[in-house]
Amino acid sequence: MTEHARRAALGHTPAPPPEPAFPDPAKLFADMLFDPPAGPDAAIAGPARDALTYRRVRWLHERISGEDPLLHHPAYLRELLELAAMVDPSVFHVLFLHHCMTLGPALDFGASPEDIAGLALGPAIGAALMTEVGLGNSSAGIRTEAVWDPVGEAFDLHTPDAGASKYPPNVGLRGVPRVAVVGARIVVDGVGRGTGLFLVPLRDAAGPCQGVVITPRPPTGLLPLDYAAVRFDHVRVPAARWLRDGATITVPGGHHDPLDPAARSRRSQGQSRFAWGAIATGMAAVTRAATAIALAHAHRRRTVGRFDPQTPALAHRNQQRALFGAHAAALTATVLARRATDLCWRLPVHRAADRGLPPATMRTASLLKVTTDRLAEQAVSRCRRACGAFGFFAENRLIDYQGLAMAFNAAGGDNQLILLDAGWSMATGVEYEPPAAPDDPQAPDASGRSAAPLERHGWAGLFRARERLLHEELVERLRIGAERGTDPFVLRNDCADAAERLGEAHAARITVEALIHDARSMFGHRVAEPVLDDLCLLRVLEEVSAHDGRLLAAGLLTVDEVRTLSARIDAVCARLAPHARALIDLLDVPPGLVRGALAGDDPIGDLTT
Ligand SMILES: Cc1cc2nc3c(=O)[nH]c(=O)nc-3n(C[C@H](O)[C@H](O)[C@H](O)COP(=O)(O)OP(=O)(O)OC[C@H]3O[C@@H](n4cnc5c(N)ncnc54)[C@H](O)[C@@H]3O)c2cc1C
Repeated sequence: MTEHARRAALGHTPAPPPEPAFPDPAKLFADMLFDPPAGPDAAIAGPARDALTYRRVRWLHERISGEDPLLHHPAYLRELLELAAMVDPSVFHVLFLHHCMTLGPALDFGASPEDIAGLALGPAIGAALMTEVGLGNSSAGIRTEAVWDPVGEAFDLHTPDAGASKYPPNVGLRGVPRVAVVGARIVVDGVGRGTGLFLVPLRDAAGPCQGVVITPRPPTGLLPLDYAAVRFDHVRVPAARWLRDGATITVPGGHHDPLDPAARSRRSQGQSRFAWGAIATGMAAVTRAATAIALAHAHRRRTVGRFDPQTPALAHRNQQRALFGAHAAALTATVLARRATDLCWRLPVHRAADRGLPPATMRTASLLKVTTDRLAEQAVSRCRRACGAFGFFAENRLIDYQGLAMAFNAAGGDNQLILLDAGWSMATGVEYEPPAAPDDPQAPDASGRSAAPLERHGWAGLFRARERLLHEELVERLRIGAERGTDPFVLRNDCADAAERLGEAHAARITVEALIHDARSMFGHRVAEPVLDDLCLLRVLEEVSAHDGRLLAAGLLTVDEVRTLSARIDAVCARLAPHARALIDLLDVPPGLVRGALAGDDPIGDLTT
């Protein structure tokens, strides 16, 4: 193990490492191994497809792995994940689970330097086993048990019943060595100590490890992988494989944890942050790839019609609205993904004092995951529809991207539950102050309406005012309900929609502020500023349009502003239309890597021969 890796694994501030000479990801993914499979490998799903996925991952690992985890090289990890998502979403999924969801908690919670180096070097591929099949929102109430055995000085990992089985991690393929970070309820002397994390080998090349029961699930077409249900039958986990994160068990003396059981469970759940950075990265990447494919297609394709002398499809305003809107979403997701990795992939500097990210940062990070996933799902769906029949067929890639975006509605933390959590935590003041009303004498009314909400200088004011009003409304409803002695479940149920909308409004505000602050610095050198500003404007106009009725009702938009929204979107599209080629270049999708007929030079020839 290198000195840098050892110091980092021990939680010391590492000296800046010399950047290793990693191979260029674009060259890696250009290898013929990533060409569309032929013969038996061409199966859309099932063991042959899964075997190809892991062959690709192993091949990549042979070229990029060292004993220093890639999380120590976030720029490289980001680029690797971006291209993986564009080239093969299943490979992306396996890579992020290994490099982020396994190595992340291992580094953050203090796995041994040897285990970290072992994980980083392979050959075992990492997985995360949190969700249990039997209960909704199960990660908040993990039932798999890790019972401390003081005699053997080890934990007894056990699944008490079928409902506590882990479902659906992709660990079902034979012959692939796997190791997982497993969430389990720690029990010491018969007392529950909250959910802890354990590093557990699941299977080696010969089969499942003793006591690990893996039941493969049938193949599935969207994001094909070797999904499975897993249960543990009294598996012995040595104390060294407990990701103890500052907690201790001594004989005699018992269990000591700086966190109480509820805080310990929250901290263990919080390891999802490593996924959020990766998911945001993948979502931004597939949105860019889908938009690049669809824009190029619409630029090239001719249409016929009554008033239509074979114009390019992209000359039609409906195509422009769909695809420039998708482009604006791709750009926005890319801005947010950069923020997400900066926040989510932070590693502890001083382990003794460092117990994860503060609640407000976790809230922001989780909302970045939700927002990028929603942007991706909507934008990829538009791209798919805009390509007609081409969009439907897997050989043109768009459906693969859509499958990835759909997977993350739930995977990495359910989007709706994240929004609800965000809303509740803001309403109850967990590290949150609502945006202050503007100190603007020109603000026309008490709602704090921005003077020019649809102009760039007015965007932040509009989204801040929306959030402030929703926060006031929710806090007031909760206050009245509490005063009346309403049952807490009933009260929250009645306010759930308001909480979700507050979560969405906060996410939208973060998004707009990120666009204002980051878009020019990230993209300004690659495209003319008016074009970039128009893309940002388009995203804002689309977000405003989606909520125009409520914004009007709240007095944050005027009737005239609502009436002009559609015309404003048209005007932006008309200005962007002459820049279609520059817009495709801005998406930074390496030519040739995406593959698929629609992404090639001669789609008609490729699709008919
Ligand atoms: C492709 C894919 C891969 C996955 N891979 C993994 C993996 O490798 N490891 C792993 O651990 N997990 C994995 N998961 C599981 C994923 O983390 C869960 O799907 C997610 O956490 C949501 O849990 P759930 O599916 O049980 O849905 P539920 O928790 O049942 O939520 C579904 C819906 O029920 C409602 N709901 C549930 N609870 C509440 C509540 N308390 N209040 C209000 N509404 C509620 C909400 O409307 C919510 O949207 C994967 C999922 C997918 C789709």
